Amino acid sequence: MSDNPTHPASWYAASAQAMPTHPRLEGTQQADVCVLGAGLTGLNAALELAEAGYKVIVLEAERVGWGASGRNGGQVIFGFGCGEGKLETLVGRADARHLFDWSLEGVCMIRERIAKHDIACDWRDGHAHVAIRPRQVAELGHWQRELGEHYDYPLTWWDREQLRASLASDRYLGALYDARSGHLHPLNYTLGLARAAATAGVRICERSTVLRLEHGAKPVLHTAHGNVQCGFVVLAGNALIKGIAPALDRKIMPVGTYVGATPSLGAERARALIGNDMAVADMNWALDYFRLSADHRLLFGGRASYSNLPPPNLRRVMRTRMHRVFPQLRGVDFEYLWGGVIDISRNRAPHWGRLRDNVYFAQGFSGHGVAATGLAGRVISEAIRGQAERLDVFARIRHRDFPGGRALRTPLLVAAMAWFKLRDALW
Ligand SMILES: Cc1cc2nc3c(=O)[nH]c(=O)nc-3n(C[C@H](O)[C@H](O)[C@H](O)COP(=O)(O)OP(=O)(O)OC[C@H]3O[C@@H](n4cnc5c(N)ncnc54)[C@H](O)[C@@H]3O)c2cc1C
Repeated sequence: MSDNPTHPASWYAASAQAMPTHPRLEGTQQADVCVLGAGLTGLNAALELAEAGYKVIVLEAERVGWGASGRNGGQVIFGFGCGEGKLETLVGRADARHLFDWSLEGVCMIRERIAKHDIACDWRDGHAHVAIRPRQVAELGHWQRELGEHYDYPLTWWDREQLRASLASDRYLGALYDARSGHLHPLNYTLGLARAAATAGVRICERSTVLRLEHGAKPVLHTAHGNVQCGFVVLAGNALIKGIAPALDRKIMPVGTYVGATPSLGAERARALIGNDMAVADMNWALDYFRLSADHRLLFGGRASYSNLPPPNLRRVMRTRMHRVFPQLRGVDFEYLWGGVIDISRNRAPHWGRLRDNVYFAQGFSGHGVAATGLAGRVISEAIRGQAERLDVFARIRHRDFPGGRALRTPLLVAAMAWFKLRDALW
């Protein structure tokens, strides 16, 4: 284990595998494909393309996994942030079914990449969506029926007593359990992907912020110390990309979310909380999500913020939320507490496609990207290699701008979130 001061402080950074540094971009370089961003989207695209024989350069403003990919809750879940019902209204039932099946491929890809590239990232099977209110029990029941009948994806319903056998909390009325989803150490997974990409021939440049994208038959990405001329561009900068492609900026709202890690509770006390070691997410709009780490900590995520600043009293609020789920942890505080930014689209559906014939992008994961980013990287690499059928289905999803630009969209989203939080609290 190494504490790496150049990566944002978190339990992930403190427990990361070796983080080799990659030299920054210098001078003029040529590539078949230049990828902006060394998170899960960019690295997955780069790996797929390099394996297909393309010369790929990845430009990363900070370090590999510096964004959401190295900080998230580590929950690997099927589907997309908006749910299947929303996708049916956006692209019809047949294509919604395709999208769902492809999302399962995203989950499988993680298992395959871990095995193929020998990535040590503490994979664990099992995930539960849990209900706090009767309304949510009904929602989970409806979802179970829909997935079973129309998507051939049966999930297991646990009532309160059955759930209580695995999860030592009285807060929940029931759960939908999925043995095929799971959880992992996201920074170590991202670092493992970077290692696999570099082995496949990808050149990764850290500390290489793209300042400008010059469009044309041969696009050029400019950094402070060099530039890359290439055949294709993949924009994978997610919520942090601001300014490179304003048309993409307008489609997403950056929202801060936070994760705390307790000190190690010891194997026995940790297992007494979540006996089957699954990951858990509740059904609230402003949700709690949690799981155990391999060294027996509780990793507890939640709380959203819409400004660039951490919310006031963050530690106290997060601690209160954790104790509401597990009152038996009263007296336990967080040893690490960190945040990151998610890229919410207005309809919470994935926003993937092309800006120009030779400029591709994927964003709008809406807090649901650990598995979907792998699929995004693959689908974009297919399109660059001349098979755009799958990307074209994603590109058919209509997305609207957040109204009012950066200045206004934040207050509007705060108002919307206040309503959803009230709904969480009352019904
Ligand atoms: C706290 C938190 C918890 C989450 N929990 C979960 C979860 O449990 N399950 C789940 O499925 N999803 C979760 N998510 C969402 C998930 O992490 C993201 O959807 C996913 O990691 C997005 O990957 P990405 O590669 O698209 O973006 P990122 O990982 O953000 O990578 C983008 C990269 O681009 C770089 N970049 C940006 N601009 C430039 C530029 N101009 N030049 C060069 N580089 C640039 C950034 O530095 C960054 O490294 C969570 C997110 C957060 C923040």
